[in-house]
Order: sequence, then structure tokens, then C-alpha cells
Amino acid sequence: MSGSVRLPFFIALAVGALGAACAQTTLETQTRHQATIQARLELADRDNAIRREKMDRMFEEAGCTESLSHQEVKRARGANILCTDPGETGAVIVVCAHYDGSGAGQAAADNWSGASLLPSLFEDIKWKPRKHTFRFIAFAGEERGLLGSQYYVKQLSKEERAKIVAVVNLDTLGLSETKLWLNHSDKRLANLLSAVANSLKLPLAVMNVDQVGTSDSQSFVARKIPSIDIHSVTAETLGRLHTKQDTVAALDAEAYYRSYKLVSTYLVLLDQAL
Ligand SMILES: [Zn+2]
Repeated sequence: MSGSVRLPFFIALAVGALGAACAQTTLETQTRHQATIQARLELADRDNAIRREKMDRMFEEAGCTESLSHQEVKRARGANILCTDPGETGAVIVVCAHYDGSGAGQAAADNWSGASLLPSLFEDIKWKPRKHTFRFIAFAGEERGLLGSQYYVKQLSKEERAKIVAVVNLDTLGLSETKLWLNHSDKRLANLLSAVANSLKLPLAVMNVDQVGTSDSQSFVARKIPSIDIHSVTAETLGRLHTKQDTVAALDAEAYYRSYKLVSTYLVLLDQAL
């Protein structure tokens, strides 16, 4: 199913003003060149243990050293990798993507494409004064049944869960232009993403993939935490997932970079709008 997001008029106005106010800042945050984004994507490896090492290294290179932590998830035979950047308030925005892959390919789209963006998104916002604390999480064990994200949500106290105001989940980018899994997403978060796309003139369409599977956002939705699912799966590209066809070479580098730009700016605006 495909279509465009309807944006309520008042939200369009509010975000229009917001976009104009920080147009300068927004452009300044786009410092990650396409070559960097692509180089991190090209680190995709079939082996989940190597993927874990590479996630660590990318976060460290991005400057997340002291606030980098790990959460062993035994059932997933891996660890969640967390990078937290404190803001002025205790309110938290989680930006997440699973880094584990499955299938005979590089699991490039699903989901090294999302996971390898996390260090770049951290770099984009880390030097800015922010209201919210941003927590970037590379989840383990998604392909084995959302194990990493379920573990993460479960071990939080009720108070810690209440502090999370938004979850931005990136799962499978670069197959096509940015898609929004609207059925899985909080309507306010979806409207704000649509507004950013309109303001930057970047493509965004609705593509619900409920029949296909699930994603880590559902671990948060189950606890009524507002979440949004951003992907790029289409009817034509769906068959590539979990097969040897899911390689970096098969991805659309331009569309992938546009998804990165959209998400990077979205995070800046979320910090201000929520
Ligand atoms: Zn996935």
C-alpha cells in the first residue's frame, strides 16, 4: 500500500515556521558527506560478531567513547550497543536500528543501512545545545524475534520508560526513496516527518508492510511509547531481504543519502517540536 501523508494544516504551519527558524542550523548539520555515509555502509559484513565490532568502532570514531555502553542479550548471542548524549532535560529521544543480519548476502539493506547511520546521526547533533537526551541504540537479535529491543524495554524502570518521548526506528534503507510505515507509527511523529520532507523537498511515501514482518519499534509500541518506523521496502524489492541479493552494491546510494539527510534534519526538529 502506498500514498502520501496528509498533514494537518496547523502542524504544517508550525513546522514551516520551525523550518525557517532553523534553516541555517539545519544546513550546518549536514556536514556528513555522502562519501562518509557510503563508506560506513560499505563496512557491511555477513558475520554478526564482526558487525558488532564495526558498530563499536564507528561509534568510537564518531566521538562516542565515554558514553558508549553495552548490554549483553544472551538469547540473541549479542549485545545492544548504546551511545547516549545528554540534553538539558531528562526527556529522551531514542534513535535505533538493529545491526544483526540474516541470509546469505551482506544484510546490507536489512539492516546495516540503518545501523551504520547511527554514528553519523550522533555526530550531526552532538555539538548542538539540545533539550532532549538522545540515545542511539544498535539492537542485537532483531531477526531472532526483536530480542535486543524487547530486552532493552523490559529492563527499564517505569520511570525510565516514561522519560522516552519518541523512538525513531530505522530498518532497511536504500532499497528505494524513504518510506514511512504509517500503521506502525505515532501520528504526530509521522506528521512531523512529513513536514520535514516537504520543507527539504525530499521524497517520502507511505508504505505499510504489516504482512511482511515486524520491527524493533513494536517493542516500544507495546509499552505505549510513541514510535516511528522509517524504511525503504517496496513490493519490488521485498524479495531481496534475507537473501544473497541483499548487498551494498544492490542499494541505491543516492536514495540512501537522501534518507540520511531527511532523518538527520528530522532529529533536530524533533528536539525542538516535542
Ligand atoms: Zn530488519
